[in-house]
Amino acid sequence: MSVPLRQQFDVALYIIKQRLKGNKRFPLVLMLEPLFRCNLACQGCGKVDYPAEILNQRMSVQECLDAVDECGAPIVSIPGGEPLLHHEIGEIVTRLIEKKKYVTLCTNAQILEKKIHLFSPSPYFNFSVHLDGLKEEHDRAVCLDGAYERAEAAIKTALAKGFRVTINCTLFNNAVPERTAAFFDHMMAIGLEDITVSPGYAYERAANQDHFLTREATKKMFRELFRLGKKSMQAGRPKWRFSQSPLFMDFLAGNQTYTCTPWGIPARNIFGWQRPCYLIGESYAKSFRELMDNTDWDQYGTGRYEKCANCMVHCGYEPTAADDAFAHPLKLLKLALFGVRTEGPMVPDIDLSGQRPADYAFSRHVETTLEKIHAEKGCADPAETEIVGKA
Ligand code: SF4
Ligand code: SF4
Repeated sequence: MSVPLRQQFDVALYIIKQRLKGNKRFPLVLMLEPLFRCNLACQGCGKVDYPAEILNQRMSVQECLDAVDECGAPIVSIPGGEPLLHHEIGEIVTRLIEKKKYVTLCTNAQILEKKIHLFSPSPYFNFSVHLDGLKEEHDRAVCLDGAYERAEAAIKTALAKGFRVTINCTLFNNAVPERTAAFFDHMMAIGLEDITVSPGYAYERAANQDHFLTREATKKMFRELFRLGKKSMQAGRPKWRFSQSPLFMDFLAGNQTYTCTPWGIPARNIFGWQRPCYLIGESYAKSFRELMDNTDWDQYGTGRYEKCANCMVHCGYEPTAADDAFAHPLKLLKLALFGVRTEGPMVPDIDLSGQRPADYAFSRHVETTLEKIHAEKGCADPAETEIVGKA
């Protein structure tokens, strides 16, 4: 694990304080999505197919700061959309660092070199560049030729300027472990700080629904990948550094049975506080308190809800792994000594037979927000206009 020691210490202190206060549920990372607009249209994206009026909405600087204060998590991750398209992104990041939050700006890096002057290196800040593989795999995943070269050039520029740079890599069922291993080797060779890797979540809004991994396939793929990681080290190449906890990696390899901790990484976007997690938006709370207190958490998670059946994504399970590490430090020690087990039987997975069926409710909040936008502009709903036109 290569998260800086200062950050590890501050986060551990925060967890201890929450536990001493008797808080059963508390956030570790806030996913702050100030906009959905992006300059790419990746095939596995669950964000960018909203109507233009939704994509044009932005959270203001003050809304971002208020969300961070309300939530209180020590880490703030800023995904999107593409956050660099937000005109006030420099100010948002600066103000959050002043609050001593550990800020990760997630970017596809297509315009990072143009916007890098908005930021300064800080132990509280890092860029997390979306890269799903070497050129062939990445350009295919993001549906744009040349995207990989631009992202790698931006990574090198940011590293040269003294920024902490990590990548976030999402794997789908067409990922070839040998190619992913070569990609990780290359990232380490160019001096990248660490890698966040996760299986893709099957977003119901994603354009391509054919490439999402089942749990079974995820575990097999990660075992193979970790086997290749060991071989790479034996061949004298640098050890892959991951930003996630060793127990989360152990979970991906089928060695831990975890249920998710959706409140551990809550999400705030233009619709409000997303319920229950960053991956699915079943409804939206007006405040963080309302999200925590008025969400029926038992309704969600693998084995409980159909949309959660194949989820093994870090934003649901990393807080579970962190909790487990606190409760069972010897598990961590074992992993530090022997690494992730890649052979032998996997632990039994959660039974799905009792899960409730999916509620395909994803457009209700869009309709409500569109009505609000039209009301504020004083114009009619396009659907209404059409009906009037026909009459
Ligand atoms: S870069 Fe991220 S937000 Fe943009 S389209 Fe791709 S996955 Fe979606
Ligand atoms: S399993 Fe948990 S983290 Fe994953 S989609 Fe369901 S509620 Fe969200």
